[in-house]
Amino acid sequence: MQVTETQDVACPKCGTHSSIPVPDRDVELKVSPYVAAFGEYTKVECSDEHVFWVYYC
Ligand SMILES: [Zn+2]
Repeated sequence: MQVTETQDVACPKCGTHSSIPVPDRDVELKVSPYVAAFGEYTKVECSDEHVFWVYYC
């Protein structure tokens, strides 16, 4: 996966925004508190150390 863009996502627990790399600027992101064994995703840790996963739709 070549990463050339970033998007802001909000932490589902505290709402803090984090900047994550995305494969395409127009990709739709889906935030999940759980990991799933399919698709492309990235693991995000917000500044309050909440861990969540972001899937590329
Ligand atoms: Zn958080």
